[in-house]
Amino acid sequence: MIGFKLPDYMTGINVPGYHFHFLSDDRKHGGHVSDFILSQGKFELEVFKDFHLRMPASHEFDQADLHPDDLKAAIHVTES
Ligand SMILES: [Zn+2]
Repeated sequence: MIGFKLPDYMTGINVPGYHFHFLSDDRKHGGHVSDFILSQGKFELEVFKDFHLRMPASHEFDQADLHPDDLKAAIHVTES
């Protein structure tokens, strides 16, 4: 499982707050984690001070009709 916490000013890029994803041991399944209790395992924390975002390099992306309000709703549905 891996997660991150995005500050509120990152709204629109992703969902602010804590956000976790998991990957099964056989690496065939994964997805969002909505809640968990860590009963065993290893916890590591790292603070990142930079953020790189690579945009799709395609004509379709360049021409996409992306409205901020639609994107916020789509991100919220996907990441919630
Ligand atoms: Zn996610």
